[in-house]
Amino acid sequence: MNVLYFYSYKTTQRLCYVLQILEERWGTRIEMIEDWERFIQLNEPKLNYSEQIDEGSIQIKPHGLLFNQGIKFFDFSELETDALAMIFFLLSRYEEYVIAERDMHKRFSAKSSYLYHTKRLHRPYTDILIQNLKHKVNKKYPLFNFKNNQFKSEFTIDIDQAFHYQQKSFRRFVGANIRDALKLHWRSVLDRKLTYFHLMKDPWNIYADLKQKSKKKTTLPIFFFLVGDYGRFNKNISYKNAAFQQVIKEINSWAHVGVHPSYNAGEDLATIQTEKTRLEGILNKSINHSRQHYIQLSLPETYLNLISSGIKNDYSMGFADEIGFRAGTAFPFDWYDLINEEITNLKVHPFCAMDVTLKNYLNLSIEEANEILTDLKEEIKKVNGTFSIISHNESLSNYAEWKGWGMLFLKYWD
Ligand SMILES: [Zn+2]
Repeated sequence: MNVLYFYSYKTTQRLCYVLQILEERWGTRIEMIEDWERFIQLNEPKLNYSEQIDEGSIQIKPHGLLFNQGIKFFDFSELETDALAMIFFLLSRYEEYVIAERDMHKRFSAKSSYLYHTKRLHRPYTDILIQNLKHKVNKKYPLFNFKNNQFKSEFTIDIDQAFHYQQKSFRRFVGANIRDALKLHWRSVLDRKLTYFHLMKDPWNIYADLKQKSKKKTTLPIFFFLVGDYGRFNKNISYKNAAFQQVIKEINSWAHVGVHPSYNAGEDLATIQTEKTRLEGILNKSINHSRQHYIQLSLPETYLNLISSGIKNDYSMGFADEIGFRAGTAFPFDWYDLINEEITNLKVHPFCAMDVTLKNYLNLSIEEANEILTDLKEEIKKVNGTFSIISHNESLSNYAEWKGWGMLFLKYWD
């Protein structure tokens, strides 16, 4: 008894997408039926996605979004009575195509989102809808079997700058010293000198320490390396630097590695391809994990470009300015391309909090951030999803402005 029969007067890509999500989540088969007479005669678990009445089935009255094509603005609260359309709306990021507002880094802000306005951003609302539907099916058909999902943790680290002071050119060394001196940051001036002359270990060079810690953990972290050209928002040393390459190779020997497409790269296929090729050249293997620097995720351009450059897994689905669940989910999912109306093979891995969001955007204390992370983790446990957060070597270093923060984030690794 593990097939759920599903009536709809027609089948669309959007509907297939939502049913595929349910099948994966529940570990079950959903069989579409377009013949109403056949459907009402079935004496099996069944879901009626129509206005017509059939006493023996669970009913959801369609809003219409799943039968439409194209993208247009409408009152999103209309979706509240149609869980399937709401799931589609949230996962496809439909609203990001019709709301034009962007922040200074060209990002869709959490504050523009429907879940933010309805105060549901801090709970995995898509997963809750799927779970509620499961409970409904379970109540009506107690013998129907669902698979059990397991709660997981995922620890991810962006390497925007491999080192704080070390390995930078003499020009950058002098320039940074002058800037720090003008701001009276004498500690930085001193540490930069000590590091430069190899009398102190670079504070952001924490890789050996992380490797050591990984031995006591059950999951391996994923490191995303920025190998783009230098610019205002890309401060890393050159990907050609031997010490940097050594770090990448060493990490690749014990953890997962992905590319961190640089500022503005998401809009430019050639740049993404160049950076991916650079990392592949260093490691002599193909790279298929990626996360956008600054979480610059513009739909559909960024994802179309990632797909064209051969990326299979993206980890940018979250907000920079807020914690929570951008697509309402804590589960990986296939991206739906709304422009071409098709299900793609790009797997989207959402995160729910980033170090910089907690400390800089939300101005939280370490204690407050700890409470928030604990709450998020609990919410995810309720739906057996994956708890994923973003840190940086900088924040994990516990150095200067990040004092104490590294300890906090490491607590959430596993
Ligand atoms: Zn970054």
